Amino acid sequence: MGRDEIDLDEYRAELERTSLMRQEFTANASHELKTPLHVISGYAELLESGMVREEDIKVFAGKIRAEAMRMTKLVEDIIALSRLDSGGVGMKRELVDLYKVAASAVEALTEAARTAEVEISLCPAPERPVLLRGIPHALYSTVYNLCENAVKYNVPGGKVSVTVETSEDGAAVLTVSDTGIGIPQEDLQRIFERFYRVDKSHSKEVGGTGLGLSIVKHAAMTHNARIEVDSEVGRGSAFTVRFP
Ligand code: ADP
Repeated sequence: MGRDEIDLDEYRAELERTSLMRQEFTANASHELKTPLHVISGYAELLESGMVREEDIKVFAGKIRAEAMRMTKLVEDIIALSRLDSGGVGMKRELVDLYKVAASAVEALTEAARTAEVEISLCPAPERPVLLRGIPHALYSTVYNLCENAVKYNVPGGKVSVTVETSEDGAAVLTVSDTGIGIPQEDLQRIFERFYRVDKSHSKEVGGTGLGLSIVKHAAMTHNARIEVDSEVGRGSAFTVRFP
């Protein structure tokens, strides 16, 4: 067999894999979007019928708003993923201070952490700035999603600590560790898959879409970064992202 034939076979197999992944993603995304839509139209129908008691109107409106918010988050995540899917083409790279990015993500999550009774802290600013050339928005999404998960999958009284440093070999390293519920060993390989959740009802309860870590994985890939996860059920998790 000639070299070209082998390459063509591989190319065809790759195309098939990609097409299958796309189909699967579209099916999953449609399903995820349909669920909140059903809930919204169900409640709207009840309100329309005029049979809802006065005191329940507010409750139903609240449920409609919550489901609409879920849909918005889902659509935002899908857009973020599809932009990263193209390898960040058209997304401008700039010199980014990773510590500043972490500081603004932590700041944005202060209120959510307080509500969850979780203490979130960021290490002191490194003496020398941790700089890397990257896509600012994708880097922010990476830190934000990891910190948000560390808060969401935590327990009251738990802690989240975020560190940014330069390793001995000159890599920019971000670590997000928590004292939360942890991830079972058998799920560790799969949490970066789109829509994969260890506990679907818990994820929905805390406002998860199942796309957060896929966004993190894609953003890391776009920056040639490596992700490591260390986790123990009942003790917590630590995610490390190493940017070369
Ligand atoms: P979600 O939107 O459901 O949070 P993610 O893609 O961000 O989706 O994460 C996938 C799943 O991985 C989550 O549903 C959760 O089960 C698990 N997970 C992610 N981060 C953590 C963490 N820090 N501690 C425990 N479980 C986690």
